[in-house]
Amino acid sequence: MHVPMRTCVGCRHVRPQAELLRTRCQSGMPVPALRPTAPVSALGPTPSGPGPKDRIGRSAYLCPSRSCLVQAVRRGGFARTFQAGPVTADVDLLWAALSESVNRESDLMQRSGPGRVHRLQSLAAALNASGRGA
Ligand SMILES: [Zn+2]
Repeated sequence: MHVPMRTCVGCRHVRPQAELLRTRCQSGMPVPALRPTAPVSALGPTPSGPGPKDRIGRSAYLCPSRSCLVQAVRRGGFARTFQAGPVTADVDLLWAALSESVNRESDLMQRSGPGRVHRLQSLAAALNASGRGA
């Protein structure tokens, strides 16, 4: 079975897409994008549509690890991946948004596919463990 692989924008390791957190560019900032339709609230008001700097379809993938997020921000991994000009990223804000996004998604998915719930719970556990250690 073919497993889609993606490269982490932080550590540059290639991992199965399902083990990575997906982000996309919104108004020059990386935002959580577990699903294309997932609402984003943690970073302030959400514009009603894509802004001029947004490129639909450009996603950056990140290990569920705070150290990878720090590396991605410091090394410009998000800007390189999004190819949408300068990217502003605040490690603490984005980390909180990613954690909230995964936890909320996990709650929402409790009633639907157990496979997806398991994946999200694994991501949530990794995020929580990494957040404590950093
Ligand atoms: Zn990584």
